[in-house]
Amino acid sequence: MGKVHVIVGPMWGGKSTEAIRLIRRYRSGSKAVLAINHSSDVRYGLRSIITHDMEQVDCLQVADLDDVPIESVVSCDVMIIEEAQFFSGLRRFVRNAADVHDKIVYVIGLDGSAKRERLGEALDVIMDADTVEKLLAVCRICGGDAPFTGSYREIPEDGVLVGGEETYLPLCRKHWIENQ
Ligand SMILES: [Zn+2]
Repeated sequence: MGKVHVIVGPMWGGKSTEAIRLIRRYRSGSKAVLAINHSSDVRYGLRSIITHDMEQVDCLQVADLDDVPIESVVSCDVMIIEEAQFFSGLRRFVRNAADVHDKIVYVIGLDGSAKRERLGEALDVIMDADTVEKLLAVCRICGGDAPFTGSYREIPEDGVLVGGEETYLPLCRKHWIENQ
């Protein structure tokens, strides 16, 4: 039977590291892994993630889950969807992969925005999941566990502001509140 594992967390929570760990784990067990990442600028392509020890991991980059070829879904054993918050139709896709095609599916992404509001559809998959895990980052201010993403800048109402180090930082509860 298929399985669904949801892994969420703030920025700098180690989600990509966990994705690479899972890819290596299943590959070492001779499982066929399909890694899917979101791309807003490449319609369809193949990207390579190079890990610290120079291991190469191929990753299908799509803007839309409908662009994932059905043969790729059918032929894999394990599917790892990164940046899941960016994909629409996520729940339908994951259900199909796990329930119909018996795949082990990992859904990895942000659970909330810097305003602590729902972001994308990653949370909708929880109802279909076998397990749910939240990763923690390290608070940039006090060094404590950081379950939230904070921002140096004003976030628009829709919670979407594309940015990296210059825009976002991981925060603990106390410092997230003080950041508001
Ligand atoms: Zn803190």
